[in-house]
Amino acid sequence: MKYCQQCAADLHYRIPEGDDKPRYCCLECDSIFYQNPKNVVGTLPIDGDKVLLCKRAIQPRKGKWTLPAGFMENGESSLEGAIRETDEEAGASVIVSENSLYTLFNLPVINQVYMFFKVDLENTLFNPGTESLEVQLFSEQEIPWDEIAFPVVKTTLQYYFEDRKKNTFPVRMFDVHHAADRKITTTLISESSINENNTNNSSA
Ligand code: ZN
Repeated sequence: MKYCQQCAADLHYRIPEGDDKPRYCCLECDSIFYQNPKNVVGTLPIDGDKVLLCKRAIQPRKGKWTLPAGFMENGESSLEGAIRETDEEAGASVIVSENSLYTLFNLPVINQVYMFFKVDLENTLFNPGTESLEVQLFSEQEIPWDEIAFPVVKTTLQYYFEDRKKNTFPVRMFDVHHAADRKITTTLISESSINENNTNNSSA
């Protein structure tokens, strides 16, 4: 960031009074421009025993397979953004049930938070968008595990196929860290428990 978005004066990267982190500051109009993590939202679209993946048509990881996901827009909810990205990248319509939030990843190294929602496909009519080369359904055996674009996608798929066996899908949050040797570690931080006594509280 070089120029003030309010008055177009040069910005200075320095710690404002009362703060403890450097920010982009305008000395002309006193505006401060904070930079905060971005949300990436996507879906895990399911059809029977298969999940939908998109082959990336763009960098990074062009030609690798991913779940439909992208940056949240202003004015939309995280779930709305995930449904929009699924339409844009896969041309797929989805059905959202209760408890759709499935995985959340904190990636402090790249200042991003990923959220994936578990949804059902309305039908198997797909239409790869401009960011996808192909859209395809995969069973657990068919997943191209070595060709998955991002660790957050691989982790979400691995947990999904394990959860399927028990037919319980807790919400999980992970922290993703990049070690000095660039090795990526994914740590489970939180896992929701499903309290059966509370699932149908209709007497209230
Ligand atoms: Zn200014």
